[in-house]
Amino acid sequence: MFQIYNSMTKKKEVFKPVEEGKVRIYTCGPTVYSSAHVGNFSAFLMADLLVRYLKYKGNEVKWIMNITDVGHLTDDNELSDSGEDKMEAASKRENKTVWEIARHYEELFMKDLKTLKALPAFKYPRATEHIPEMIEMVKSLEEKGVVYETSDGIYFDISKFPKYGELSGNTLDALQAGARVEVNEDKRSAFDFAVWKKLTGKNEGHIMKWESPWGTGFPGWHLECSAMSKKYLGETLDFHTGGEDNRFPHHESEIAQSETANGKKFVNYWMHKSRVVVNNEKMSKSLGNFFTVQDLINKGYSADSIRFTFLSAHYRSKLNFTEEQLIESQKTIDKFNDFIQAVLKAETSGSDDGIPAIVKSTKQQFEKGMDDDLNISVALASLFGFIKAVKKKIDSGDISEAGKLAVIDFLKDLNEIFMVFDFEEKKNKEFSPEEQKLIDDLTEQRNKFRTEKNWAEADRIRDELVKMGVNIADKK
Ligand SMILES: [Zn+2]
Repeated sequence: MFQIYNSMTKKKEVFKPVEEGKVRIYTCGPTVYSSAHVGNFSAFLMADLLVRYLKYKGNEVKWIMNITDVGHLTDDNELSDSGEDKMEAASKRENKTVWEIARHYEELFMKDLKTLKALPAFKYPRATEHIPEMIEMVKSLEEKGVVYETSDGIYFDISKFPKYGELSGNTLDALQAGARVEVNEDKRSAFDFAVWKKLTGKNEGHIMKWESPWGTGFPGWHLECSAMSKKYLGETLDFHTGGEDNRFPHHESEIAQSETANGKKFVNYWMHKSRVVVNNEKMSKSLGNFFTVQDLINKGYSADSIRFTFLSAHYRSKLNFTEEQLIESQKTIDKFNDFIQAVLKAETSGSDDGIPAIVKSTKQQFEKGMDDDLNISVALASLFGFIKAVKKKIDSGDISEAGKLAVIDFLKDLNEIFMVFDFEEKKNKEFSPEEQKLIDDLTEQRNKFRTEKNWAEADRIRDELVKMGVNIADKK
């Protein structure tokens, strides 16, 4: 039974798909006006983990991630009408057209997503290619009488949607008390949000614009997700995921639009990725702790270590991202891969090794962890125990051909989730007599340190041997 923490109800719930065996997932994608930082990718990798685990469990998964390529205000929170359009600001900064900016950063984003081995979504719909669907939705909101027109746009009257605030815990009173919003005289409430913006005032020169029944303009930011999720996944989604920052006003507003327009529950399970901090500080360009995926790869870290760092931290715990963590992740990945080499190279005996039973119980523990709100620590702990148990069998020469196969098959299944295991058997290198002599000497020294339980020295020599291309299979 797969249980997930639903950010709407604030509790763990047993997952029940709308349609048995089929899961529909929508993820708020990037705004493509600059490079995404690794913290952004942590939210996409959370969705990737969810998608991959549900597939591992035998579900058919349809995953949609949008690309926000319509220009919006600099301050993503549209409650504040200050600021410049992000796409246009980037266009000036980089001396490119807004369309060039959008395609360029979308391309970079897709490349990073691929580098981090995220499963390709079913589709990455662009907001700019779904303007008619958005206009349709505004029309239907108009028919329901929940929007009104002002001099600068069409606004959703949130007093017409009593559930507004349920997801984020923002009641109107709380909003009013803590708000620092610019007053727009024409709006009935400062918290009403735009579904369509007209080309007036500071938006007069907005470059990305479309015709609509309310004049030339552009859609409000929240509208695209309501319109595109409906088009590709239907009126009720199983999961809607995003970063914690998306919860308000973005997701709150999506709910108001979709539920009013469709007359149906919009999302059954909401999942939000906790914010990532770097060295305990908010990731920002001014603090110099803003890393893109490419920055880290240029520094010599592997894409796998970035992927594993995000996967191995629970999505609801605040992740403090450090470079040391990437090193630790790499060590863990190496440990798995060394183990795989040891299994592939193990000499087999015909005896009944008991390995199928070990695989079976590990699989149960692993799934028990993952079924509990994707509790990855529990799941990984089961795998470390598994490595230990199987290594013991290998060391005592008690592994059969069938046992080896069971181990490899199991890890191959898991790799559909992790994507960092390497199953290619590394051939032993040919060494010159001098090299062989050095290897023998080092091996002897290492064995001596091992018997003295001087693990630090033993590990140092081990690393040296690995660097030379020697396969180390620890034997007693
Ligand atoms: Zn969205």
